[in-house]
Amino acid sequence: MRPIDMIVIHQTDTPTATVESIDRYHRSLGWAGIAYHYVIYRDGSVHKGRLNSEVGAHCKGDNAPSIGICCVGKGTALPVGAGYMNQAMWDALLRLVDQLISAYHIPVSRVVGHRERLSGREQGKTCPGFDVDTIRYRLNEERAARCPVVHGSDPRGIDVEPRVT
Ligand SMILES: [Zn+2]
Repeated sequence: MRPIDMIVIHQTDTPTATVESIDRYHRSLGWAGIAYHYVIYRDGSVHKGRLNSEVGAHCKGDNAPSIGICCVGKGTALPVGAGYMNQAMWDALLRLVDQLISAYHIPVSRVVGHRERLSGREQGKTCPGFDVDTIRYRLNEERAARCPVVHGSDPRGIDVEPRVT
């Protein structure tokens, strides 16, 4: 398995994009099939693209260690904050990213948007069209809520003896 320590989030320009149509388009560019590992449709369903064990082709310079997730957008070249994400898509994206960062031990700070990366900035990308801080903030909040800090105990847990019953 290749080392994975980053998630890059994208949006499509086409509202009717599917895994199959993206796969056909990327093959027409001479690529080895769909460039993303996951695609989130407008109904919030999550669809598999490239295998996670395979390097994607979605963010130049960052493909080797990353997983690419693409959210199906509403129209062409949406500016940041255009609000194309609906509740079902937010929920699906958060759940998927949360599962992936747990599975691969990816720091929340390494969940990024395409336009935050060097190649995205150089290409003038608005992708994924929303502030990815929102996702990072929610992930930190939800993960902290699942692991409450017990005040007064050793954070490493070494002062806790197993209880014998
Ligand atoms: Zn992108």
